[in-house]
Amino acid sequence: MKKVKILHMYADMLDLYGDSGNMEIIRYRCGMRGIECQVDSYSIDSEMPDFSSYDLIYIGGGADLEQQHISADLMKCREGIIKAYSSGTFMFLICGGYQLMGKFYRDADGNEIKGLGLFDYHTVAPQSRKMRCIGNIVLRTNITGKPVEVVGFENHGGQTHGVKTPFGEVLYGNGNCAGSKAEGYIEKNVIATYLHGPCLSKNPEIADYMIGYCINRGQAEHITLEPLDDTLEKKCRSVMLKRLLNE
Ligand code: GLN
Repeated sequence: MKKVKILHMYADMLDLYGDSGNMEIIRYRCGMRGIECQVDSYSIDSEMPDFSSYDLIYIGGGADLEQQHISADLMKCREGIIKAYSSGTFMFLICGGYQLMGKFYRDADGNEIKGLGLFDYHTVAPQSRKMRCIGNIVLRTNITGKPVEVVGFENHGGQTHGVKTPFGEVLYGNGNCAGSKAEGYIEKNVIATYLHGPCLSKNPEIADYMIGYCINRGQAEHITLEPLDDTLEKKCRSVMLKRLLNE
């Protein structure tokens, strides 16, 4: 079976609420199935990698300051990332990372951080720093072909506008904008979301969707992933669903 190659960008700066844990989870779920998984790191001033050689590029979330610090470096990677995405590399983006792939992020002080412009949306934070979307969140997505409830935790000032294909419908919490019904952004090879947690810990279907995508990319024969025992993960999720939705 093909090895899964992942590039984790700016792990030293964008790692809010244990976002790096998402990589541990993917590594673990590959390992349990005997799939080799290589996670390389890239950060400011690392040697420019061959982005297209990766099956998945991952960027976590972070505070405005960290986003400002990495933005110039991210611009240097623009061409390589666009090429990789266009050739089918999966983009998994959390919160600050999600915002930076859009057109721009305007913070509460009015500073505009240029995004990579890979996607059409943009993000604006309200002028009052007190107005943030903070708390548990539940959404329903169809990305796996059947409805899955996804739980996590959001904490963002930025309000994301212009998303045409959201990751899911919000059942509890805010999502892209305060009180909105839409959360995140998806394409066949993109999941961008405000969910921290790390978000894959209670949502194993999402992890497997990405692993399945990666191992099947460019392969003639389709491989179906062996199911794992997700009793604990699902139990954790049901506790949250019961608490938040009374399900
Ligand atoms: N700094 C951004 C905001 O507040 C992103 C925060 C995050 O990644 N959680 O909107």
